[in-house]
Amino acid sequence: MDDQPTRTIDTAAVLAADRHHLHPFTTHRELRATGPRVIAGAEGVHLITADGRRILDGMSGLWCVQLGYGVRPLIDAGREALETLPYYNTFFQCTHPYVAELTAELKTLLPEGFDEIFYACSGSEANDSAVKLIRYYWNLMGRPEKKQIIARRWAYHGVTLAAASLSGLPHLHPQFDLPLAGFHHVEPPPYRFGFGRDMSEEAFCDLCVEATERKILEIGPERVAAFIGEPVMGAGGMMTPPAGYWPRIAELCRKYDILLWADEVITGFGRTGRWWGFETYEFLPDIITMAKGMSSGYQPISAVALGPRMGPVIADAPDEMAHGFTYSGHPVAAAVAIANIREMKRRGLVDSADSRRRIALFQDTVRGLADHPLVGEVRGVGFLAAIELVADRKTGRRFEPEGRAGLLCREESVKAGLVMRAVRDTMILAPPIVIDTPEIAEIAGAARRALDRTAEILARDGG
Ligand code: PLP
Repeated sequence: MDDQPTRTIDTAAVLAADRHHLHPFTTHRELRATGPRVIAGAEGVHLITADGRRILDGMSGLWCVQLGYGVRPLIDAGREALETLPYYNTFFQCTHPYVAELTAELKTLLPEGFDEIFYACSGSEANDSAVKLIRYYWNLMGRPEKKQIIARRWAYHGVTLAAASLSGLPHLHPQFDLPLAGFHHVEPPPYRFGFGRDMSEEAFCDLCVEATERKILEIGPERVAAFIGEPVMGAGGMMTPPAGYWPRIAELCRKYDILLWADEVITGFGRTGRWWGFETYEFLPDIITMAKGMSSGYQPISAVALGPRMGPVIADAPDEMAHGFTYSGHPVAAAVAIANIREMKRRGLVDSADSRRRIALFQDTVRGLADHPLVGEVRGVGFLAAIELVADRKTGRRFEPEGRAGLLCREESVKAGLVMRAVRDTMILAPPIVIDTPEIAEIAGAARRALDRTAEILARDGG
């Protein structure tokens, strides 16, 4: 990994200037009392704090920095585009070489027939755009009654009004009077903690698929436009599907003429070991949304790719597609995304013998934490892993109040030199997909120290 300069910063000035910044997903009362953690720079897979500490970024920022920080070809590509064409739009029959080249590059990764690609700047915008394109598609098909969308409880699809309505995390809705009409959530999510404790994986898969079919029948198949899912649920708690789940969901969608939509915002670009999560789970969607790892997070860019069902219908529509963003296909973001994909290919980071070796080492090493007294289960796929914290390993009893152990562990983890994310009492790892033996050992060592310290504090405070 290439070196990157870090700036010397005046922490007090940063904190003072930041005081009136409304942070995403933050309780501001608490933030004002504690102050934010200032990240001054980053290098390779490490963040550098204002006081010069190096912390391994076990979450790749927000599941996005696939290549790690300071990667020269991405920086150079961004700089070159800034100098050549810092901005132009793709409205009104215009294009530019960067977005054209990115489209060609993406098509090398997409399944055959995914010929139409629309650009946006974030996962939420891509998902919002997909909702609109789905509505447009069924209108063009003369099926205006087909507009209901089924998503899943605990899903995370973003925060714009439609994306938040797709999301099935309960706390995303009440503050904003969501979900909007026309968005449905199916139970149960495709993961159950303590898998196999009282039900086989097959039986649990049946339960998930049957619940989905019941929901389709309840709404009326003729009214259901699309089913959306993250191949592996991310922000809801890194939930992996039971074996056979996705092919059976794809079969259900075919049976009832429902578009199948894979939200690949986390699972795309090598996160599960293949380029796409749907390849890992062996199904073929009709719509793919992507963001995050598309540029390794270096630039805000996302896309919607339409397969052979929707693509030609939208591309041949007689009227203007009245949708698009000022920054759709932004040249600098497109240039960085191209460089990112090419760098992944050049280094053989995805779908290669070397990536399979590193994934096996990562998964085995993290699973080595399963012997810890605080750990009820370790699960994962690719460069994604979840560590469930439990009060009782035998019964799987959770901590009360839920989330306290997770927060404690998250803080202890940072102190131990590792960023882990806590979703309730599930600790999540999604490190840069470049990690190898030394970084994996560093992750496991810091995670174990964090677990030990969390267990000590919980025992001292009476669990
Ligand atoms: N979809 C998934 C699966 C995500 O995990 C996220 C963000 O974490 C989004 C969509 C929303 O992306 P963004 O935060 O870029 O709007």
